Amino acid sequence: MTVITTSRSTSEQQEVSKDDSMLKQKAMMAKHFDRLTSARENGEKVCSTFVPGNLNELIMCFDFANNLPEVNAIQNGLRKKSGSYVMEAEKLGHSEDVCTYVKSDVGMMAKGNLAPNGKPFPDPDLLLLSYTGCFTFMKWFELLREQYKCETIMLHTPYEGDGKITDNMREYMVKQLKEDVIPTLERVSGVKFDIDRLRENLRRSAKAEDDLVYVLQTGRNRPSPIDAYFGGIYYIGPIFGAYRGTDDAIDYYKTLREEVDGRLAAGQGPVTPDGVMETEKYRLVVEGPPNYTSFRDFWKMFYEEGAVVVASSYTKVGGVYDFGFRHDPDNPLETLADYCLGVYTNRSLPQRVDMLVNYVNEYEADGLLINSIKSCNSFSAGQLLIMREVEKRTGKPAAFVESDLVDPRYFSAANIKNRLESYFQMVDQKRDGSAKGAAA
Ligand code: SF4
Repeated sequence: MTVITTSRSTSEQQEVSKDDSMLKQKAMMAKHFDRLTSARENGEKVCSTFVPGNLNELIMCFDFANNLPEVNAIQNGLRKKSGSYVMEAEKLGHSEDVCTYVKSDVGMMAKGNLAPNGKPFPDPDLLLLSYTGCFTFMKWFELLREQYKCETIMLHTPYEGDGKITDNMREYMVKQLKEDVIPTLERVSGVKFDIDRLRENLRRSAKAEDDLVYVLQTGRNRPSPIDAYFGGIYYIGPIFGAYRGTDDAIDYYKTLREEVDGRLAAGQGPVTPDGVMETEKYRLVVEGPPNYTSFRDFWKMFYEEGAVVVASSYTKVGGVYDFGFRHDPDNPLETLADYCLGVYTNRSLPQRVDMLVNYVNEYEADGLLINSIKSCNSFSAGQLLIMREVEKRTGKPAAFVESDLVDPRYFSAANIKNRLESYFQMVDQKRDGSAKGAAA
């Protein structure tokens, strides 16, 4: 573990603990943005696509640089730039209720479209939409299509309304891949499709996925050596971003696994920005995306109380791997279909409830906490029902806090802290009650 100083102003400077995997990831992110912003001078084409249902292994077969608009919005949230971008988009007529990832993106485009390295993003040559359950994805790319006037592909993923993937669904997707997606990728890139290249990329994905699952499942231990929400957001970065299917991702997850194994062997808790968490007092499952504009303040409210997140649904948004799915090089197109069909945003409400109940039980959590995101309809719809169902089926207390993804106006620190404190008291009371019941 390394201690570094943040690059904020001197008055704000503070020492932050970082694992080597975090430093490695920081370098990967920098490399990703440098590749994108120098794509034109390097003669590379650019494909924009979304995180859930991204076809990175396929995109790589055509030598595209991969631009992920949500990743850009998250970076702008963490760097405290998204607030002004969101307001810029509202000035342009976007309603207050629109997903703030979209407004951050639109505002960023209006203000020069600068990447975190300070250089402008290139215009995309292709928009590849894997439509996986969130209607906003489609509207977002309609806006981008209007702006860039480039080719657009839509891979339609049938919603898992009945909670299962049927052969028909899979065949329907493979047909689209063969007849529409791959021919368009060939035409725009000028590169011929090579299925063996796809198989190799998928093989690399599966290897990194094994290590990611291993790391996330260490949350079952006491103490948990990881925080599966705040820390988990770093862990999913490479595999949910532009690195799935690469050697860099394999290397990153191997390093991460070794670090987590080291903490596990030493009986240590997760690494927080203030160092290793000493005492694990509360074990939580969290549903919903985090707030990025006050990410560290939000996290601090948990680790200062000894609360560690042992499992979360958000770390499954770019792929659900912990129930067995891996990208399969022997069935290259079918596996891409199964991956898209299974991502969290494409799962029905009962499936989401089952998953969270499973996490509370398997990870021996004290309860469920929902961070309901004001502008994310895809996650927020049904969360009150989810809360009641999980409470009923696990007998563990659940609670609700509200914030937003990248709009700083909707992060009320005092309110959230109050609610969290009440929730921790509720967990204490429940434990006291259970202990007395057991003694009686
Ligand atoms: S899932 Fe939520 S955050 Fe993502 S695009 Fe849809 S509305 Fe926005």
